[in-house]
Amino acid sequence: MKKVIFFSFIWLFSYGFAPHAFAKKRVHVRHHYSHPRQLAAVDDVQRQINALNALMLQKMQQEEDPNATEDDSNIPASGIYESWTNSRINPYHMPVSKLPDSVKIDVSQFVPPVQSWITSHFGWRSRFHRMHYGTDLKLNIGDPVRCAFDGRVRITGYEPGGYGNYVVVRHDNGLETIYGHLSKILVRENEYLKAGDVLGLGGSTGRSTGPHLHFEVRYLGNAINPEKIFDFADGTPWHDTYEITKRGSFDYEYAHLTPSSNFRKSLARAHKAKRRYHRR
Ligand SMILES: [Zn+2]
Repeated sequence: MKKVIFFSFIWLFSYGFAPHAFAKKRVHVRHHYSHPRQLAAVDDVQRQINALNALMLQKMQQEEDPNATEDDSNIPASGIYESWTNSRINPYHMPVSKLPDSVKIDVSQFVPPVQSWITSHFGWRSRFHRMHYGTDLKLNIGDPVRCAFDGRVRITGYEPGGYGNYVVVRHDNGLETIYGHLSKILVRENEYLKAGDVLGLGGSTGRSTGPHLHFEVRYLGNAINPEKIFDFADGTPWHDTYEITKRGSFDYEYAHLTPSSNFRKSLARAHKAKRRYHRR
């Protein structure tokens, strides 16, 4: 779409705002042999416009994909993710319906971000009429928060009405994890991390009622209930391999299609709420 608008603009620029371009066509037909100097001048202007257009197109392509020149081998899970950006939590535009039917993820190297108990589960929060896309784990302010798997820091950010200080890491195994409400971030964007590296300190920044870690797991931008993959009481994955399936991993996306119930209605609302809260 952006490109369509862009080329419309180019067309306008070349013809709409440059009447000499039309003039050139007319001149060509009527005075082909009589005014070679004028024709040369018009051609010159047209050449300059073409050069400008090419330059703008190049600049726009660079803006669209700021890492176009980045070596793919430096992008974790480059076989799954086409892009690497430091700006949006979910830039992938990948609805659950378009995901492959089954993807096997090696989660054997998991290190728990904090070894602690769950204070709030993943799922619909009727009190706030919104989805909760992570698992909340108890911690004290200043406790080290560790990276769950080997990977590379994609985003370090601050969201006052939500995650507070947060870190997003892309992992070699294809998952992305988010660590929210940190009091301090100790890593930089594009930095490589090993499983267990401390990426920040626990806190209560953003939308938080007390010190805890908000921990999210995502695949191509779509949240998976971390409790499906990890046994937080034990600090280990349930199995060395986690199989992502549409219905099994993203059941909250499908629950609104099941027979009528209050549960169904609340999940339909969750579905809408998700759209509202996860536009970025
Ligand atoms: Zn949370």
